[in-house]
Amino acid sequence: MRHLIALFVCSLVIATASANEPAHASASAAAALEPAKTVAPSIKPALPSIKPPIVLPLSPAAQAAKDAEAEAQLSAKIATRLAAMRANQIARAAAAANARKAAVRHKEAVAAVAAPPVVPPYHGNHWSYEGETGPANWGRNPDWAQCGIGTRQSPIDLRDGMKVDLEQIMFDYKPSSFNVTDNGHTIQVNLSGGNYISLQGRSYELIQFHFHRPSEERINGKGFEMVMHMVHKDSEGKLAVVAVLLERGKAQNLIQTVWNNLPLEKNDTVAPSIVLDPAEILPAKRDYFTYMGSLTTPPCSEGVLWLVLKEPMQASPAQMALFARLYPLNARPIQANSGRVIKESN
Ligand SMILES: [Zn+2]
Repeated sequence: MRHLIALFVCSLVIATASANEPAHASASAAAALEPAKTVAPSIKPALPSIKPPIVLPLSPAAQAAKDAEAEAQLSAKIATRLAAMRANQIARAAAAANARKAAVRHKEAVAAVAAPPVVPPYHGNHWSYEGETGPANWGRNPDWAQCGIGTRQSPIDLRDGMKVDLEQIMFDYKPSSFNVTDNGHTIQVNLSGGNYISLQGRSYELIQFHFHRPSEERINGKGFEMVMHMVHKDSEGKLAVVAVLLERGKAQNLIQTVWNNLPLEKNDTVAPSIVLDPAEILPAKRDYFTYMGSLTTPPCSEGVLWLVLKEPMQASPAQMALFARLYPLNARPIQANSGRVIKESN
């Protein structure tokens, strides 16, 4: 009986404490149970000076019956209380398990979003502008990883440029000997040395120029029919590419000279005994956009200074159509800007 009472008191104390009631409240709750003990008859003789409460003594049989009844009631109360506590425990454990499961599911969902699709690496040297060997798969070749994971890639959509007083690009081009090659990706014109641009105290030599259809770069979302990329290199090997956008219009002399000397076969080169002046393709107004980007073909190396002339030049529909017969589409899609600064001439 004593043990049961003590257990009941304890469970009540725990229950009331867990209900965040003040400590004195649980103490008084325990005190409220004290009279249960005083139910037992006092065997002390009543002192005449104090008037004790009148307690009628019970017969031993009646007392035993009463004790048994109280014990049964208390046992029932304790059983109810324990059942409630156990149910509470089970519910809490289930809630914790659910939370753990939800956390695992969340982790899996995040991993599924973050993990790149499982694609086997590609070790070939062939690449193209569509399908299995197209731009979306260039990064599968470990040597061309930058194409897939680089954050300074080209081309980009040139928008929200910072309009500033940009230093003028100094062009020092002159009639030069050249050869024309069809490298399987574009028509490329390789130049003999002696053609330079200079800016920011650096001098870059024009190595080659080539064409893309449509233009790879966009200006405020607008694409152009073609673009010519003039690739320059400084003495440390740093690259600067001048992009000349081409729109439909009158025939362009320099382009005609190149077309006149197209090789008959891919990976073949024609080296005519004439000269070509790259200055002919430059617009009169040389305002430009500039940003740091990459090669737009594998291996997509970064650290390339891009200089995109704002004013487009023209080529005739027949000149455009001729290139389209060889390369109807040889433009890499627009790449993420990733917070890069774009400056443009004021
Ligand atoms: Zn290019």
